[in-house]
Amino acid sequence: MDLNNKTGAEDSGQLKEAVDFVDSSVVREAPRIALTFDDGPNAQCTGRLLDGLKKRGVKATFFLIGMNAKDNPDLVKRIYEEGHLIGNHTYHHVDITKKSDEEARKEIEDTDKVISSVTGEHVEYMRPPFGVWQKNLELEMDVMPVMWSVDPLDWTTENTDEIVNKVVTETEENDIILLHDCYESSVDAALRIVDILQKKGFEFVTADKLIME
Ligand SMILES: [Zn+2]
Repeated sequence: MDLNNKTGAEDSGQLKEAVDFVDSSVVREAPRIALTFDDGPNAQCTGRLLDGLKKRGVKATFFLIGMNAKDNPDLVKRIYEEGHLIGNHTYHHVDITKKSDEEARKEIEDTDKVISSVTGEHVEYMRPPFGVWQKNLELEMDVMPVMWSVDPLDWTTENTDEIVNKVVTETEENDIILLHDCYESSVDAALRIVDILQKKGFEFVTADKLIME
């Protein structure tokens, strides 16, 4: 009798573990990915992209070129107010490693000033143009570089299908996708990518969420 009871208890313990496992897999969040857009804001393209992202409930990350931000403060304001993350992409789209420390600092600082004059916040993240970065600037400038893991080279083609196919076949959980919001074809591709990957169950989040959590 005792032996039977003991066995019974063990069985129910195992069953409970199995139930817990099933429960946790049910409540697990959707796989998260991030869309990032470099080189804007662009007077022709960024507004349409923002409209499309809003309609789809998607938050993205925009790495702005300082001089473009200065020319398009209304778009900077929209990006910020619509809940996207804004990052720094230098003032003149320069290769930081080819500049003196002083020039590099100025490129980042001047961009930060333009953006923060609109948002009221220090820009915490940056994407170094060409993906090249000087580690020492990270501490000095209080910015964190954000690279990418999926790059369809959207700036080399106007073929939207090609951009869409490359991204939707390559993208996996936690990927950071690189696009540019200064080409109509890239905006078209981005919105199609969102539609396809949302259907596949992915959740689009700002890039900081994938880096910090
Ligand atoms: Zn760029």
